[in-house]
Amino acid sequence: MKDILKTYFASKNIEYYAVLDYADCKEINPGIMEREDFTPCSVIVYLLPYYTGETVNISRYAASLDYHLGLREIAEGLIEAIRTARPDASAKGYGDHSPIDEVGAALISGLGLVGDNGLIINEKYGSYVFIGDVVTDIPPSELGAITPQKVRRCHSCGACKRACPTGILRGEGKDCLSAITQRKGELTEEEKALMIRYNTAWGCDLCQSVCPYNREPKVTPIEFFRRERISNLTRGILDSMDKAAFLRRAFSWRGRKTVERNLDILENK
Ligand code: SF4
Ligand code: SF4
Repeated sequence: MKDILKTYFASKNIEYYAVLDYADCKEINPGIMEREDFTPCSVIVYLLPYYTGETVNISRYAASLDYHLGLREIAEGLIEAIRTARPDASAKGYGDHSPIDEVGAALISGLGLVGDNGLIINEKYGSYVFIGDVVTDIPPSELGAITPQKVRRCHSCGACKRACPTGILRGEGKDCLSAITQRKGELTEEEKALMIRYNTAWGCDLCQSVCPYNREPKVTPIEFFRRERISNLTRGILDSMDKAAFLRRAFSWRGRKTVERNLDILENK
């Protein structure tokens, strides 16, 4: 089974993955596994880098097609590979809404260290990574599970805290700029001014872009994150999207009106 994983991840250009005993992971949503019809024994955790190098006016994570679709594509392929080799096995893929603490699992797997900005930082791709995981009832020993490692931390240079425009990373502000851009309804003049100043129509990458670990992140080798990218979102681009195209974007989850409002703030300043 170890070779099945190795071959599959190599075919998708995924370099950073590990297998953990489910018992070594912190279960944060037990209800998810209670609804499944198998007993979780192992977790396969992996990183999907998404940095492409271009300058964007939306958070980098949102410039590709919705990353949930990418996570699903990778997990479904992995499950198919597992079940081809072991038809009796059960497996389920997650990403963002997992039964386990995904960041914690990636950290104890040694796939990266944790930054003071709360993000996992990989040695090659910096913090521009998504975490995916597949839970299966295959015993950990068959998949080559590793012993959990001690969590490593960044060197606390303070750059992310100094750069944070709302001060929330310094324990001062009351909201993150990313959350402000995703909030429905009317924004305050101060909030609009922040969006204009930092030229963001969706999200905020400041605590990532100033991080020294992100000085020269490698560009993603994963095909999904290179497809149909939007580096500069405009009202014209948004208006040209039909419902299906809009729903394939990570910035769709708060509804079209929220994104329209943000673009109007930037374009009518
Ligand atoms: S995303 Fe922006 S506003 Fe939010 S914590 Fe990071 S720097 Fe601060
Ligand atoms: S900017 Fe400095 S303190 Fe913040 S996560 Fe990066 S290394 Fe850590």
